[in-house]
Amino acid sequence: MAPVSTLRHTVVLGGGVAGLTAAVALTRAGRLVTLIERRAELGGKAGSYRPPGIFQWVDHCPHVLLGACTSQRWLYEQLGVGDLISWHDRLPLRAGDEAGELLAQPSLPPPFNLAQGLLGLPGLTPRDLATLAAAMTKISVARPPWPDDQTFAAWLGPLTTPTLDRGFWSLLLRSVLNASADEASARYGLLFFRHGLLHHRDAWHLGVPRCPLRTLHHVAPRAWLARHGGQVVLGQAGSVALGPSGFVVRAGAEEFVADEVVLALTPTQARRALDPALTARVGGALDVDLEAGSIVGAHLWFAEPVDLPPVTGLFDAELDWVFRHDGGRRLAVVASTADAWQGLSPAGQAERAWRTLRQHWPRLPAPVATAACREARATFVPRPGLEARRPGPVTGVPGLVLAGAWTATGWPATMEGAARSGLAAASALVGADLSVPDLPAQGVYRLTCRTSRR
Ligand SMILES: Cc1cc2nc3c(=O)[nH]c(=O)nc-3n(C[C@H](O)[C@H](O)[C@H](O)COP(=O)(O)OP(=O)(O)OC[C@H]3O[C@@H](n4cnc5c(N)ncnc54)[C@H](O)[C@@H]3O)c2cc1C
Repeated sequence: MAPVSTLRHTVVLGGGVAGLTAAVALTRAGRLVTLIERRAELGGKAGSYRPPGIFQWVDHCPHVLLGACTSQRWLYEQLGVGDLISWHDRLPLRAGDEAGELLAQPSLPPPFNLAQGLLGLPGLTPRDLATLAAAMTKISVARPPWPDDQTFAAWLGPLTTPTLDRGFWSLLLRSVLNASADEASARYGLLFFRHGLLHHRDAWHLGVPRCPLRTLHHVAPRAWLARHGGQVVLGQAGSVALGPSGFVVRAGAEEFVADEVVLALTPTQARRALDPALTARVGGALDVDLEAGSIVGAHLWFAEPVDLPPVTGLFDAELDWVFRHDGGRRLAVVASTADAWQGLSPAGQAERAWRTLRQHWPRLPAPVATAACREARATFVPRPGLEARRPGPVTGVPGLVLAGAWTATGWPATMEGAARSGLAAASALVGADLSVPDLPAQGVYRLTCRTSRR
């Protein structure tokens, strides 16, 4: 007779970064995990595809992380793929064809380590620099809790200039929040500048995957779960109802009885997956209205290697970041807050990306092949007041928890937010804190943390 498992069986619905993180954390906590993903591959929004006619996996959109993304880095360590991230502690930047960079002074304590680096930013006049120094000082000394009832632009007040609006603030806020300073809550802007830039020497280091995202978010977690006794069901949308001895989860022809369920889905997907009786009991958590922000990702292949830095941020441009891959034969680019790109075909998006690149590198040759896609619902727009409306993992149904970048993690819609939500959902089921600590405060912030603990 086959041995009967006494492990609690947890079904995770949704194989994006939130679901993957929950599945790994719950497996480590001793649960028997079944992960169900409706698409053919895991990874959700952070996945890869093979564009028509191109026999290579590329990402729907290049994704980056920061040193401050401790939960996401924890996931990569568990999966054994941490060394597939290249870390950049020197960020080339461009304003038109003027080159500059953001570079820290490692011998100085945070936040002073970045002060000198501001002098290296391109395209700024002495007045812009003086205004930026005043703004960064205001950011550096702002005491939490940071206000969620006004935009970042309103919070900054006069401490900006038109050049900074179109350049420094726009590049950083668009890349992290997919929103402008006029749209984003001051709370999220300050969270980024403080925890993602200033709090610790490594916080702002930019992590760029050296492989397609599917290696990190599909191949590695699938193999990890198989090695640790988990099961992965691909290509089937799951649905959940309550049965006599637990949750009944259906995925295609398969039916699973589960003690616990993690819904690592967007609110709309979760409503579709739940039996109406369960939706009613989950309550208003799934009713949160999230305004969608769009992003375009494009890839351009060249006949000969192009001589660009491995990564470049663009000031005052439709594109935010440019990544050099395949020895310079491919550039991958990102355009955040990409509403103006709506209606363009993939070829039209790639053409627009190339024209933007030419404004910064006038001698860039024409690409020999391109691929592009625009994700209309890439992220939620972190408007003032949103944080209080994001639900936590616990629902009105015991054993049924929520995860997803949109849930209440305090973070914007990022892979780190998704990873944090997965850990929060796992913590709620296990009844123990499985969260990963933030980077410790350094420099001046170490002193202020000590003072505020007293
Ligand atoms: C173009 C773009 C660029 C981005 N750039 C960055 C970046 O550079 N850095 C960063 O940190 N973040 C970035 N993000 C945000 C980041 O990708 C997301 O915040 C994160 O991946 C969301 O993960 P998630 O697990 O919460 O949701 P999702 O990735 O949406 O995962 C939900 C999953 O559930 C599946 N599903 C739906 N219904 C069912 C069902 N009934 N049964 C089973 N499965 C189901 C879906 O197929 C999907 O795989 C970007 C996003 C986009 C779209």
